[in-house]
Amino acid sequence: MSNGDGRREGRQRAKTDFRFDDARLCFAFAGTLADRGKDVHVERLARPEDLSRWCAESGCTAVAPACTEADLDGARRLREAIQRTGLALADGVPPAPEDVALVNGAAAEPTSVPVLSADATSVRWHGDGVAAVLSMVARDLIELCRSEHRTRVRICGNPACGTPFVDTSRAGARRWCSMKTCGALVKKRAYRARAQAPADGE
Ligand SMILES: [Zn+2]
Repeated sequence: MSNGDGRREGRQRAKTDFRFDDARLCFAFAGTLADRGKDVHVERLARPEDLSRWCAESGCTAVAPACTEADLDGARRLREAIQRTGLALADGVPPAPEDVALVNGAAAEPTSVPVLSADATSVRWHGDGVAAVLSMVARDLIELCRSEHRTRVRICGNPACGTPFVDTSRAGARRWCSMKTCGALVKKRAYRARAQAPADGE
């Protein structure tokens, strides 16, 4: 099949992997809508199953919780509130009151509770539904806002990306949300550009 829908479906699948490397939990969640700087965004939380998988892959739950369409809607609303709050932090301006209210509402839900095994060698999570995971995500943003790192929030230097990150480097010179993705991509482009330029010897 080579119709437009087929191509879009293939593209979604190709970029379905979640990214957690180098990212704070709250901004890893914001990054589930990718290519924010492009005309067409890539939605990594396309179906309730995707949100369920994110909950487990983020490490917030041991078992992927059941998710409904309503859970997915709520999660996306929280995600966009986090994204906009990240932009506000990067700009050094207060976030919109409705975004703060959304974050506070999610954070007010009880989180998962770690339960240590009797021999202290393993941990299971008690109460790990979607609301608990979203609460942990929202609380992570709140924790960031009350920390000195709030002034270290930046927007990824890859214009197509647009994901916030926290620059905790000593020099304060980090430019990418992730070295493995956006950083590697920009370096690869620069390498190709150099390779195509006239070389001064083999
Ligand atoms: Zn990026």
